[in-house]
Amino acid sequence: MIDIRKHLPSIHSYEKKTTRYILPDENSSEGQFVPDIVLRYGKFSSVLRSVFRIGPYLAGCIRELKRSYKEVNDQPESFRTSIDEEGLCELKEFIFSLGIDEIGWAKTARSDIFSNQKIVYPNAIVLLMHMDRTIMESAPSKKSQKEIFRTYYALNRAVNSIKRYLNENNFHGEAGPALGGEVKYPHLAQKANLGAVGKSGLLITPTFGPCIRIAAVFTDIENLPFSKENEYMWIRDFCKSCNRCVTACPSHAIEDTSDNHHLDYTRCAVPFSTRYGCSICINSCTFFKSPFDRIRKAHMKHTHSLDFPMT
Ligand code: SF4
Ligand code: SF4
Repeated sequence: MIDIRKHLPSIHSYEKKTTRYILPDENSSEGQFVPDIVLRYGKFSSVLRSVFRIGPYLAGCIRELKRSYKEVNDQPESFRTSIDEEGLCELKEFIFSLGIDEIGWAKTARSDIFSNQKIVYPNAIVLLMHMDRTIMESAPSKKSQKEIFRTYYALNRAVNSIKRYLNENNFHGEAGPALGGEVKYPHLAQKANLGAVGKSGLLITPTFGPCIRIAAVFTDIENLPFSKENEYMWIRDFCKSCNRCVTACPSHAIEDTSDNHHLDYTRCAVPFSTRYGCSICINSCTFFKSPFDRIRKAHMKHTHSLDFPMT
């Protein structure tokens, strides 16, 4: 079997001895690269058929990935680590102009970094881009598979543009691509108060439910508006008694644990490669099917009634 990781650009490909990297800690889990998992555990013939369908997006993703890692070492010599209010507004405006739907801010912990990865700058600008809901309703389908890779590609391009924008304004920047990446994005986005990680391992967001993809840009700007709290942690409690994704997953890849989620990616790889990127865990999720506020209200009512039982 080809070890695709060796042939794809990564942060290790452009490693510089003089750069001080932030390394993972002993609790970090290993990062997986979607095309690699699919090649290792999926069906090769289906992979080939998919490559013809999503080829342009995949090629674009890899081109942008190479750019991301190559340009990590291109940083302004004279730089700032503080941004004023006007600069922050302009930065946000620029990010939204690239088609990003939501922005969050989080400090990356070493445990967020995959055990086989590293980053240069600790402060994350977390980016969400939604996938077309109507298309994702049809998943698994050729259209939904295309939509997944369209979003990956758009995000991989966006992170490089944001990195360059930061550099042009004398800030350090490091692109964290959506396809690839060094950090557990759903957890980082949860830290940034953009949603909470559901039992499926997907980030559940108030506006788009789980129908999103995530990327990040890292910097050493110190005064970004980092979130201190997460207002969506009740979602994890909701997941304990929901289990729709667990039942719907065709390969039993989502474990029904009462607490943290656990996804067996080796099982997921088969439907992912043979059934157009699967994504049944997205469109079977309660937060995809029903409005966020209605679920929240019903959950709060239920929790409240448990807190004060009628006698
Ligand atoms: S993509 Fe499909 S196989 Fe993978 S976890 Fe989701 S539902 Fe299961
Ligand atoms: S389907 Fe239910 S258990 Fe699974 S992530 Fe969505 S809300 Fe949580």
